[in-house]
Amino acid sequence: MMDIQVLASGSSGNCYKISDGKTTILLDAGIPFKKIQEGLKFDTKSISGCFITHQHGDHSKAVPELLRRGFKVYSNEDVRSVFHGVQRLSDKLPYRQGSFIITPFTCQHDVECYGYHVQSIETNETLLYFTDTAYIKYRFRNIHYILAEANYSFDVMAENAKKGHVPWFVSERVVQTHMSIDTLLDFLKANDLHSVKEIYLLHLSNANSDAASFKTRVQKETGAVVYVY
Ligand SMILES: [Zn+2]
Ligand SMILES: [Zn+2]
Repeated sequence: MMDIQVLASGSSGNCYKISDGKTTILLDAGIPFKKIQEGLKFDTKSISGCFITHQHGDHSKAVPELLRRGFKVYSNEDVRSVFHGVQRLSDKLPYRQGSFIITPFTCQHDVECYGYHVQSIETNETLLYFTDTAYIKYRFRNIHYILAEANYSFDVMAENAKKGHVPWFVSERVVQTHMSIDTLLDFLKANDLHSVKEIYLLHLSNANSDAASFKTRVQKETGAVVYVY
């Protein structure tokens, strides 16, 4: 079993700890380092690498501090150009980190953004992580855990825009750069979900989402255990 811990999720910060019992990694580090220490009960020594999706602060806030403290941080060329010391991973090229084989793939955001396919040779399980992406152009199989953005519902957002709660230009940016629950459901339907055990819905917008209905819809569609953050 992989151990998945959500340290933070949403536009104010994203950080996820993944462990297969042998190797521990962080997916994104978009909270202050102090919060990571607290979340890990000060056992930060166990982290063998941090894999960052993109340069936005809600995913990269702790990167300078992590680098200063000697942690290994990996991401794409854009993140490497912002934070000196980040090691660059190539799109679709598997990278070995302890007992994990981690393969980045390109997402659709307003800056260069990676999703990560994380395979454990210790537990023989695979995890998929993606966020801040309008859609995913790839298909996957033999996935056991999915950590996916479910940022907004188009209906809720349209209602908010109509009432003037959210300006249209903000809604437009969201549609082009974030994943709706509807797009996520389409993605899930298009993939072989036979082995999926758990789905984590991440990065929900405070104004434009509906956690309870998101959970029910994904549960109904997939039969997996669904957690919402
Ligand atoms: Zn974000
Ligand atoms: Zn972003």
